[in-house]
Amino acid sequence: MCQENQKDRGKILVFSAASGAGKTTLLTYLTETVPGLVYSISATTRKPRSGEVNGKHYFFMSTEEFEAKIEKNEFAEWQQVHGNYYGTPRPFIESVVSSGDNIVMDIDVFGKKKFDAVYPEAVGILVTPPSMEELEKRLRDRKTDDEATILLRLQNAKTEMDFARLEGKYEHVIVNDNLEDAKIKISELIRTIIDG
Ligand code: 5GP
Repeated sequence: MCQENQKDRGKILVFSAASGAGKTTLLTYLTETVPGLVYSISATTRKPRSGEVNGKHYFFMSTEEFEAKIEKNEFAEWQQVHGNYYGTPRPFIESVVSSGDNIVMDIDVFGKKKFDAVYPEAVGILVTPPSMEELEKRLRDRKTDDEATILLRLQNAKTEMDFARLEGKYEHVIVNDNLEDAKIKISELIRTIIDG
């Protein structure tokens, strides 16, 4: 009976990547095309970028609000990334997987390690750019960050990828060299995980 309940729970999929690896585009594509796959909206103290909507891309909040939620233990994990807080709200994950739907989320490599302590069954998917040169080009082309932020993100990307390789639990790695190919690879992978 216990095993039966376990089987009925939805799957938890965690995506990690350095920013600029194309993860957001791939996640949006997946949630729009795979039935029964729900995106977990993170909370952050980062300011919204142009086009980002509160309650869709993130729950944007002040540092005080975020710290109050940490105190109330409302996050499955939280982390400071690039000088801002990011966290995964816990109640939403429970409501989705207990209803049998699958949930996908975006967590940085350090937060993923903390998340694994709470949800060891989570399946990790690491999205990498083909090279650091290509990552730099993408960060510049998207024109969303200032120079200091780009340099910080590049420096952090190397540290993050090293940490993921050495200490992360990622069952799957997707190299995003060409977006259309990556979409196909990732769709097939997700469907296999969900059906498995
Ligand atoms: P961005 O500001 O570009 O949207 O995201 C910056 C970084 O924060 C990315 O590495 C992303 O994976 C990470 N991130 C987004 N949401 C969360 C979260 O809920 N928890 C943690 N630990 N990292 C997150």
